Amino acid sequence: MIDRTLPVPLTQASTVERMFPALTPAQIERIAARGRVRPVRTGEVLIEAGQRIVPFFVVTAGQVDIVLPSGNAETLVAVHRPGQFTGEVNMLSGRPALVRARASELGEVVELDREHFLALVQTDSELSELIMRAFILRRVELIAHGLGDVVLIGSNHCSGTLRVKEFLTRNGHPYSYVDLDRQTDVQDLLDRFQVAAADVPVVICRGELVLKNPTNQQIADCLGFNEAIDQTQIRDVVIVGAGPAGLAAAVYAASEGLDALVLETKAPGGQAGSSSKIENYLGFPTGISGEKLAGRAYTQAEKFGAQVMITKGARRLACDRKPYAIEIDDSLRVPARTIIIATGAMYRKPSFENLSQFEGAGVYYGATFMEAQVCHGEEVIVVGGGNSAGQAAVFLAQNCKRVHMLVRSSGLAESMSRYLISRIEENPAIVLKTNTEIEALEGSNHLECVRWRDRQTGNTERQDIRHVFLMTGAVPATQWLDGCVAVDAKGFIKTGPDLSQDDLVTARWPLARAPHLLETSLPGVFAVGDVRAGNVKRVASAVGEGSIAISFVHRALHE
Ligand SMILES: Cc1cc2nc3c(=O)[nH]c(=O)nc-3n(C[C@H](O)[C@H](O)[C@H](O)COP(=O)(O)OP(=O)(O)OC[C@H]3O[C@@H](n4cnc5c(N)ncnc54)[C@H](O)[C@@H]3O)c2cc1C
Repeated sequence: MIDRTLPVPLTQASTVERMFPALTPAQIERIAARGRVRPVRTGEVLIEAGQRIVPFFVVTAGQVDIVLPSGNAETLVAVHRPGQFTGEVNMLSGRPALVRARASELGEVVELDREHFLALVQTDSELSELIMRAFILRRVELIAHGLGDVVLIGSNHCSGTLRVKEFLTRNGHPYSYVDLDRQTDVQDLLDRFQVAAADVPVVICRGELVLKNPTNQQIADCLGFNEAIDQTQIRDVVIVGAGPAGLAAAVYAASEGLDALVLETKAPGGQAGSSSKIENYLGFPTGISGEKLAGRAYTQAEKFGAQVMITKGARRLACDRKPYAIEIDDSLRVPARTIIIATGAMYRKPSFENLSQFEGAGVYYGATFMEAQVCHGEEVIVVGGGNSAGQAAVFLAQNCKRVHMLVRSSGLAESMSRYLISRIEENPAIVLKTNTEIEALEGSNHLECVRWRDRQTGNTERQDIRHVFLMTGAVPATQWLDGCVAVDAKGFIKTGPDLSQDDLVTARWPLARAPHLLETSLPGVFAVGDVRAGNVKRVASAVGEGSIAISFVHRALHE
């Protein structure tokens, strides 16, 4: 039975037109030249939900329905008439189709296999713009309406549920959510899949597989995130990390004809993906959310043919011989002619359960002009005793009513430059609290109140403070490199001119030339973005470095 009520309230005509554009005869002719024209029967299924390696269809006569199957029922998602085409972003990644496409009457289509489809979007800029825009808008619509192959049953009070939600959201995968705390009529669903409320989060994958409190990797496997990727093939470049630096490297590598594979532990976007609004990235005068920026970059990388493996983090680098190999788990090693390390850094975070709730909404990891404007005239807290915390406190004190500086140790002398300590001591707007740590953050949509504790006396204090700057330093994600490349005292990777003669001697640098800019002490292995010693912790610089590294990858490949 088909529910013929379109679930998508397509109110804005312009959005509908861009989501389901009708191609001109000339455009269809260009597509037909790469594929084949064939008749379709009434009821013929052109694409089955869950099908891997899906062809691209343009309807030239008749009608094709797009439906979401659920058990024996179907929900009508869209209708394609002559001139319109099938597909959404899964076509680029090669992930299984989310929906079924079926001819609802006798007709004709142009059919293009995935390989020819990718060649089309890479070479025909007019069609590429039209198709890519439609695919992205269709995915956004599926996400907005929770139309997909995943049902998540959970509770907002359960951290596992929040983890799964974040994983699916940051991977741009649509899902419908059943909230056990709010929806009372869920017993049928629980009975049908033989799960209990205590099993949450429960992920029902493709209407059949039931995963109880699954790991991110189990979800990725179930949804076939990496199925279309050949994991053993030797690559021109393997990029480790899909933050802004890694995604930029992937876009430039693939668009310049290199065979590029990206390995990512969690989801595309990295730290930037967790930013609610990036306002200082060139070209976005009204700002862009990190999630959107990451989603677009990810689609762009895939359009050019880069492949991205999700939940497949690098565990070890085998650097003793070429080609290098990146170990992912006991059974998987990915060989690479060159490598770009873009694993970024993790800000040291206190272990408050609700910390992520306030990130960008009262909790910040950087004190720039932008954050200073947000807390103008208010009381703020800066946590940390290093130079970055000192600079932040002095900077914020210019415009804030009061800066409470919370330090766990008994003083600043050991961790901060003398000039900063003097400035802090001389500034009446800064109140230094040593031996002190935050105990709790409170609020709903925004941080409203903070409780801290004196570690010596045990006394606690609670104040209505809406802004906390966590400046406790960043830890580079370099543990997996295990001595393969030279790092600085804090573990950040040294590159190019930052590598001393001693570093090169210790690393047994084998070439007559010096390391390229962004090249590590291992020839053909580069480091970009926040993982690199001397980086500037900005999206733009990470993107810039990712793209620059590719020009050196070309040189290394020809060496
Ligand atoms: C909340 C927040 C807000 C920010 N706001 C701004 C802003 O407004 N403007 C601005 O310019 N900058 C901002 N920044 C800083 C900016 O996000 C970073 O400078 C930028 O993301 C660095 O990019 P990157 O790709 O080098 O590293 P990251 O973003 O850290 O990405 C690294 C990626 O590598 C992955 N990874 C780690 N280890 C492995 C492994 N072993 N194998 C595979 N993958 C791995 C991680 O999961 C991650 O996805 C913000 C940062 C945060 C945390």
